[in-house]
Amino acid sequence: MARRPRELDEDDVRSRANPRGTRPRSKQRPAHENAVDGMVVAVDRGRYLVLADEPQATGGTEVMAMRARELGRKSIVVGDRVGVVGTIDDSPDALVRIVRLDERDTVLRRTADDSDEHERVIVANADQLLIVSALADPEPSYGFIDRCLVAALAAGIEPVLCLTKSDLAPPQPVIERYAALDVPSVVMRRGGPLDEVRDLLTGHVSVLVGHSGVGKSTLINALVPTADRATGRVSAIGKGRHTSSSAVALRLPDVDGWVVDTPGVRSFGLAHVSPDDLLWAFPDLEDGANRCPRGCEHLAAEDGCTLDAWVAEGHSTPDRLAAFRQLLVSR
Ligand code: ZN
Repeated sequence: MARRPRELDEDDVRSRANPRGTRPRSKQRPAHENAVDGMVVAVDRGRYLVLADEPQATGGTEVMAMRARELGRKSIVVGDRVGVVGTIDDSPDALVRIVRLDERDTVLRRTADDSDEHERVIVANADQLLIVSALADPEPSYGFIDRCLVAALAAGIEPVLCLTKSDLAPPQPVIERYAALDVPSVVMRRGGPLDEVRDLLTGHVSVLVGHSGVGKSTLINALVPTADRATGRVSAIGKGRHTSSSAVALRLPDVDGWVVDTPGVRSFGLAHVSPDDLLWAFPDLEDGANRCPRGCEHLAAEDGCTLDAWVAEGHSTPDRLAAFRQLLVSR
């Protein structure tokens, strides 16, 4: 009896669960009309933690999931909206199958690194990138902030500056540096209230990114008091060896909204971003770049780039030009 390959997959999974094959098989079920909507909240080596049923509301049930073979090699990442089939309940050994991967609104990539030469999608469907930077201890890293701003733009995600430790240094220098970009910002002091940042996060799926020591973990733990417990559940997916660079989605208590922590993700990939798109983060250079010869790589005056002259005319500053070129060469 000829069957299409994906029906074979279906039957294969069933026959293991039901070796005698006494359950009647239906051939008319490839569309999975009865699949339940869910959102992937954590991933580890082929296992997925999915919040099923009502992922966007306050309800839902967390279930462990594996991918159905019919999905092929498509990657599934945190934030993906999926359809799952199987028994959805709280029992610890419940295992459902992801049979559908919905189209993504946005994708955020991390950079290639020493262990992996490819940029990888780490978060899908986020609509906000909260760039967490301390005002002092450690000093703001403008190179990192610039990179995050461009990555957010490239991904179609709204960036927000979250400036911490305002009890140590004033926020004005950072805010003024990015004033022309019209990026919202929130300023926080250590131990201060969270109302403003919680308001900014409500109704959004926000990825939080920041260097160590800037207060990102403190902020996440304050916003989501059960964050440690959730991370513990994630560790259980990979039998206690959760890869440190994986993202984890955490639902904000009491309000509609998610924060996605990105431990171990040091930066976001920009290899797919063109020099012209990079200029979005440098409006003080953009008009100058328009005077450059067509196809200018903006790297050096010797090659015809007019940006050094633009800076010399006082439209921008040498450190802004250096920051732009640093991003260009480190993509
Ligand atoms: Zn140029």
